Amino acid sequence: MTENKVALVTGAGQGIGRGIALKLAGDGFDIAVADLPFQEEKARAVVAEIEAMGRKAIFVAADVSKKADIEAAVDAAASQLGGFDVIVNNAGIAQVKPITEITEEELNTIFAINVNSVVFGIQAAAAKFTELGVKGRIISAASIASIKGFPILGAYSASKFAVRGITQVAAQELAPQGITVNAYAPGIVGTGMWDLIDEKLSEINGKPRGQNLKENVDSIMLGRIETPEDVAGVVSFFAGPNADYVTGQVLLVDGGMLYN
Ligand code: NAD
Repeated sequence: MTENKVALVTGAGQGIGRGIALKLAGDGFDIAVADLPFQEEKARAVVAEIEAMGRKAIFVAADVSKKADIEAAVDAAASQLGGFDVIVNNAGIAQVKPITEITEEELNTIFAINVNSVVFGIQAAAAKFTELGVKGRIISAASIASIKGFPILGAYSASKFAVRGITQVAAQELAPQGITVNAYAPGIVGTGMWDLIDEKLSEINGKPRGQNLKENVDSIMLGRIETPEDVAGVVSFFAGPNADYVTGQVLLVDGGMLYN
């Protein structure tokens, strides 16, 4: 890999996004760490970790559900870090509710954050790649819930199915420019998101806190919960030279939960 490659990772203040940012920094990328303003302290800690690895990094405050924020984040990454090669549309939220109870507002919120953000990220990155003449990489967060619908995660499953569809379409439309578009589909990663899912499931089914997480982890063939580093390895592959000929794919990285 040449020097001074630049990657923007959204939702990189914690969890999977943080793991991806650190992994790509280890691969030699300079990193724009994007997250909501309230996450600034955590995000700046990630920036410091990356700088300690000898790479450049910046924090960019952005709400990924806003097109203008994503465009500004891509511009900031390119101008402050001196290039633009990879976007990782990682930021996302979960909702835990039976389908009969999901409100219109909740549906709009989860689609704005999980789906609209991916479209905006693809648009902003493709425009910047074209401007710079770069054969860039677009990588987005799908989920096991992009392959199979999970009960009580109806809106979330729908949003992740949408990410899979958008990934397939963008891969075909952007292939003539040499841009690849792929997505990673994690299983059960021990992050804030699963703390929330476990808590909400407990409220719904009355099982003690931690029990729903444990039962889900018990269904993982490789026998342990997933880590952000497990996910980051797949993103590193998509971002690196070994994936030159891979596009339009959604790669399950779930320890053996689903098979397709
Ligand atoms: P997390 O909740 O630990 O972290 C998500 C990050 O995204 C946070 O830093 C949060 O501040 C940020 N974020 C949320 N809304 C945002 C917005 N509107 N604009 C900018 N940033 C925003 O979650 P995670 O587990 O690290 O999940 C990361 C991605 O991986 C998500 O897209 C999620 O759907 C996906 N995923 C997670 C799991 C899992 O088991 N944790 C499994 C499959 C897929």
